[in-house]
Amino acid sequence: MRRNRGPDRGRWVGRERHSGVGMGSERISRRGVLIGGAGVVVGAGTAGYAGRDEIRRWWWRASGRERPRTDGAVDHAGAEWAAASSANWRRASRPDDYAVDRVVIHVVQGSYGDALRVFRDPLHEAAAHYVVRKDGHVAQTVRELDVAFHSGNRAFNERSIGIEHEGYVDRPAGFTDAMYAASARLAADICARYGIPVDRTHLVAHSEVPGTDHTDPGPHWNWNRYLRLVKLAKEAREAKEAKEAAAS
Ligand SMILES: [Zn+2]
Repeated sequence: MRRNRGPDRGRWVGRERHSGVGMGSERISRRGVLIGGAGVVVGAGTAGYAGRDEIRRWWWRASGRERPRTDGAVDHAGAEWAAASSANWRRASRPDDYAVDRVVIHVVQGSYGDALRVFRDPLHEAAAHYVVRKDGHVAQTVRELDVAFHSGNRAFNERSIGIEHEGYVDRPAGFTDAMYAASARLAADICARYGIPVDRTHLVAHSEVPGTDHTDPGPHWNWNRYLRLVKLAKEAREAKEAKEAAAS
């Protein structure tokens, strides 16, 4: 369990906990994690309060240029809206206030339902923008214009969109074709929206975020395959747009 180190540095999905000693997560009692995961209150230290104060000031300054939001609206066509607790993200107005140039790939270390449950928990201190299920179903839990606390690095959270995938880092069979395909369509959409190049500099593993002690999505995540699928999905999207533009 990680200690609270300010609003962007909290624990991650209850069961997505990695000790930083390789793929050790299976050796940690899953039962213990389940019980302790979502419900444990971690006392906010000085950093926590300072962080909150900063957010309040920022709010006051930015309130005039907030973009309209509609309850239940999603950024990715076909995604199901499943709101995370507002304690697990910060209101923003991206890409006006922060440029978005990274997509961070995560694995839950649990089920789709586990991820949605802990994201709804205001004490969890973390949430990603999206959760992709094994069958390819996608939930959006935080709007893309807002900063989700998903990477354990404040600056990185501000510049990125986080995608969670149901499953475990050491169970590659759980990374299904449907999951790769749906996640690739989602990542392609994101890359198209913000002009993000589809490469390994801009699509990164949570484990590659500076300062993180997480190891997801782990060595079984097939990056070559994933990038290929994202590129294909982006091309398909662009071809469709060109066709629509020509028809209108
Ligand atoms: Zn992660």
